[in-house]
Amino acid sequence: MSEVVILGVFVADAAFRADRMPVMGETILGRGFALGPGGKGSNQAVAAGRAGAKVSFVSKIGEDTFGQMALDLWAEAGVAPAVTQGGDTGAAFIFLDAATGDNAIIVAPGVAGTLSAQDIEARADLISQAKVFVTQLEQPMEAALRALELARGGGAATILNPAPAAELPEGMLALCDYVTPNETEAEALTGVAVTDLASARRAGDALLQAGVARAAVLTLGADGVLFHGADRSVHVPAITVGPVAETVGAGDAFNGGFATALAEGRDPVEAARFGCAVAGLSVTRPGAAASMPNRAEVEVALA
Ligand code: ADP
Repeated sequence: MSEVVILGVFVADAAFRADRMPVMGETILGRGFALGPGGKGSNQAVAAGRAGAKVSFVSKIGEDTFGQMALDLWAEAGVAPAVTQGGDTGAAFIFLDAATGDNAIIVAPGVAGTLSAQDIEARADLISQAKVFVTQLEQPMEAALRALELARGGGAATILNPAPAAELPEGMLALCDYVTPNETEAEALTGVAVTDLASARRAGDALLQAGVARAAVLTLGADGVLFHGADRSVHVPAITVGPVAETVGAGDAFNGGFATALAEGRDPVEAARFGCAVAGLSVTRPGAAASMPNRAEVEVALA
């Protein structure tokens, strides 16, 4: 039995760095290229696996080179794949402007873009036996919705990481024990511009009112997290362990760590602190999945 079950998407991230962006129709020489594993759900599963969770990842990948990249990554990170194979694995092409740090991205979720409520039904036993269930919004909404219903029905603590920002179907927030938006996503969900702790609390109130059962857990970048529950609202500061290399995947690191600690039965605010330690370590290294720390590193950061 897996204690943490995560539904989501794997994509291969292909990142090109150049002195400027090409204009349409133009070819320019790049300064560098990197190919590595990405996809929010997969990154979160890797974060949880390295942090010590017994974790399964529900998704669809292709029987191709990128699909093999996913399987190798999960094997190394201790993630049990609950994936169907066939079609094309997703990929993201990332164009990085070396001068400004700006980027432009095209993500094609590939076969994971066809995840349906029926695909979720096929994993009903796994999902309904989870202790903690996590999903995001990169796969079709109907899959996320059905999985949240099954997890809730089985008594799991349910976490929705509402990323990328999207309009949610009626009733979705009421299936969530925790919702973990960043500032942009919190504003998209509530209409409240999150610029400080006071506005984060107002956004948190709106999410509780919309049916989130236990707490809105807003991630605030270098300012850490606001854990905003019905009974207590606690600011959990970020945990800094060294200079910041790159914040790609910080939110995924937090979610994987938070889920891991909840599954271990920690107090939810302590679980948010654990998530901040995982995220604080991840931002000191480049890459998304590649930057996720192991359990020993997390223990040191928390001490
Ligand atoms: P996202 O990556 O989804 O935009 P955030 O930027 O809010 O999410 O970051 C998620 C978490 O990562 C934060 O709550 C914090 O714990 C950690 N984090 C982000 N940036 C930093 C930083 N500069 N230093 C330390 N921790 C950070």
